[in-house]
This record gives sequence, structure tokens and C-alpha cells, in this order.
Amino acid sequence: MGVNNLSFFETVLSFFDKAAACTSHPKGLIDQIKYCNSIYEFKFPVKRQDGTIEILQAFRVEHSHHKLPVKGGIRFSEMVTQDEVKALAALMTYKCAIVDVPFGGAKGGIRFEPKNYTEEQIEHITRRYTAELVKKNFIGPGIDVPAPDYGTGSREMAWILDTYRALHPDQIDADGCVTGKPIAQGGIHGRTEATGRGVFFAGRRATCYEEDMKKLGLAKGLEGKTVVVQGLGNVGYYAARFFQEAGAVIVALIEWDGAIYNPKGLDIEAVQKHRRETRSILNFPGARNFVKNTDGLEYECDILIPAALERQITAQNAPNIKAKIILEAANGPTTAEAEKILVEKGIMIVPDTYANAGGVTVSYFEWLKNLSHVRFGRLSKRFEEGSHKRLVSVMEQLTGKSLTDEEKKIITRGADEIDFVNSGLEETMYNAYDDMRETMMKSPQVKDLRTAAFVNAINKIAVSYLQMGIWP
Ligand code: GLU
Repeated sequence: MGVNNLSFFETVLSFFDKAAACTSHPKGLIDQIKYCNSIYEFKFPVKRQDGTIEILQAFRVEHSHHKLPVKGGIRFSEMVTQDEVKALAALMTYKCAIVDVPFGGAKGGIRFEPKNYTEEQIEHITRRYTAELVKKNFIGPGIDVPAPDYGTGSREMAWILDTYRALHPDQIDADGCVTGKPIAQGGIHGRTEATGRGVFFAGRRATCYEEDMKKLGLAKGLEGKTVVVQGLGNVGYYAARFFQEAGAVIVALIEWDGAIYNPKGLDIEAVQKHRRETRSILNFPGARNFVKNTDGLEYECDILIPAALERQITAQNAPNIKAKIILEAANGPTTAEAEKILVEKGIMIVPDTYANAGGVTVSYFEWLKNLSHVRFGRLSKRFEEGSHKRLVSVMEQLTGKSLTDEEKKIITRGADEIDFVNSGLEETMYNAYDDMRETMMKSPQVKDLRTAAFVNAINKIAVSYLQMGIWP
């Protein structure tokens, strides 16, 4: 099969096959890892405002049960298909393995456009979907744990939890049946911005090695790097904000209805405000509109961050892409055909399976919080503060100098939940990057980060299966 016209799932399979060829696992084991374990497709009715009944198509795909629970978001979109959910579920398996989050991969979706439905209808649809998952044992804190994805957020997660709880009134760990919940419903601080923050950490790590950057003709670090972001949703907006805060220059922004550029830089907050007021990013003061919104992908920059949907970088636009680094914040933004062209051009692709794993990493922290029934920092914060204060006062006595109250406050502060979440995320993203880089350096046949990411994932999942005693 050529790389032309591969479906999304076939594209994931083709990336997987390329990496599997760099490992020495038996074929049976490779096949066990590769395909989806359980595919649940179902239909249910909703009543529209005009009284008519519509039948919606829904999915939950559990790709790999090598670890439980399985984990992955739920997508509400008109474009949802079984192939897409399978691809996204598979990507979740590899993503979790790459960042050492002990879950298998899954994904869900309902094929409908939420913009065309009332809030009440969306609530009804979400609750009905959850009840269907409960019926088939496709949800539970130790079974399958959904989260937000395109078209869903904390509001939907709260409905899912409430429905699950109603059907399991005596389950003590019920809060862990879904992540990305509102804080008051057992959510965790930092989950909303986690994927964008993870993308930022991925970019910071990828650009920190002088020798790697030299090969691309770039200086190390993010400061002054020019960046183009496609998609200003939850992931793209936070990623752009963190890049800007680190001194990168956002030179172009692309949305579904248009794209803008300014080589001197676009202030992300000001663009968001303009977008809220005018309902579009177009005609932003000081910026120019691109003729076609996809022209933004081909704009001159150091780092291109596709943070929208899959299959945006294609054989058509890949030859014109000028970025030196592509940081895949979306799932599956690059087609197999485009990948070949980009690799030949020497562009560094920081793959989705790694770059957008910040969301599921913080979901893991949320799930741990739910199972432990205590907020991170609750037991340690005050104790830490006391120890730091005693240390500062000993230092003051020894040196005869004293700190200002403000300085003392900064130094002695004990860690809160958000501090644990962000530092845990940073550590996770840096370690996973270094593991991929090491695989590339150790194995000459592994020539790109995507293959390295898949090789690492395959090796870790293989160990899980081997430990189960299925393969000798
Ligand atoms: N939907 C997100 C993703 O694609 C998050 C999944 C999760 O937190 O389980 O990674």
C-alpha cells in the first residue's frame, strides 16, 4: 500500500510499521499491540426542538488493554468517523507509553455538531452516551476513563461524572471515572492549560540542545524564535501564550475562518480580545489577512505549531512549508505523504504522540488525586513552609544578614497543587524527550523523532505483554 490516500488510522499504522521494523519483537506481539482491542459503535435517539427524532452515531474504541484503565478523550464533531476514533485511540496508547502514564489508549466520539444544539440537548446527549457506556462496561475508574477532546470540556465531564455516579451510588472511587472535570467536581488545577503547557515544554526541550539546533541553522532556546500557530482552541491558545511569555514571537495565527500575520509579532491576548469582540481573528489592527487561511502554514517561521485537527499538513502544502521545526500539538496533523516530504527537507518534526501528551499526563495526576481522595499539597504545604522558614532563620543568624518580608515569602512558600502539577508535567515532558533523543542516537536506523517515539512506546508495551506471560 502506498502512502497516498491513506485513511487517518492507516496513517497511524504506517508510522507504527516503520518503527516496528526497527525493533526485534515477534510478529504476533507486534500485531497484538497494533490493532484496536474493542470497538463499540452504537446509535441512540435525540429529540430536536421541532419535535423530530434524530438518531446519533457514537463510538468508544479501546485500543490497548496492556494497562488498565484505558484513557482518552471524547470528541463531539460532525466529522467523527469510526476510522478517526480508531486512529485517535491508537495514538492515545502510544502517547501514554511515551510519557510513562500507566494507561492503555482509548477514544470516544459522537457524530454531531454541538453548535447546532441547545445546551439542554447537549446535556441529554452526553448523559445518554455515558449511560450507554455504563451498560457495556466501557467506563469506570479502573476500566476506561474519558476526558475532554475537540468539542467537549469540563462541562461535559461534569455531566459524565454525575450520570456515572447516579448509576453507581456506592462506588467510593467514582470521581476517577472521568478527568478534565471542574475543580469543584474533583478536577485538578492546571488541567485546562495542560496540553498547551506540555506543547510549550516539548518546544523548550527540543530547542535546548545546541548541536541539534545547529543542524537546523537555529540558535538554541525559544527566545526570539518566530512561531506560527494553527488553531486557537484550548491547546493552541495556551501554547501560543506560553511561547510568547518565553520570548518567542508569534508571527502568524490561523483559524478556520481566516489567518493573520505580522512579522513583528501578534499579541495573543489582544488577538483573543479582538476575536471575542468581532467573532473573527481577521482584520486585527496592525496585522494583515492571508488570502487563504491555509497560506499561514507556509509562512516563513522557525516553529510551526499545528494545534487544530488532523490531516492539515498534506502533500499539497508540505513542499512549501518553510518552518524548521513542526511541533505537533494536534493529533495526527501530518499525513504520511507529507511526512516523507518534510523529512527529506530536513525539517524536525516533534511528533503528536509526545508533543501533546501534557493533557493526558495531567489527567493522570487528576485520576491519582481522585483515587487518593486528597488534594496534592494538603498534607505537606504547611510543613514545608515551616522547614523553609527555619532554614532561612538559621541562614540569617549565620550570615548576620536578613531577607525582606517579600523575599522570605517567595523562598519559604510550600508547594500547592498547581506547583506539583506543573513541575510533574515539566519533568515528564523533558524525560520523554530525552528518551526519544537517546533512541535516535543509539539506533542508526531510527532517523526521526516520530519513529523514535513509536519505538520507545512499542518497547514499553511489549514489556507489559511479556510480563503477563503471554509471549515466552
Ligand atoms: N483528549 C486529550 C488527548 O488527545 C486528553 C486525553 C486524556 O486526558 O485522557 O490527549
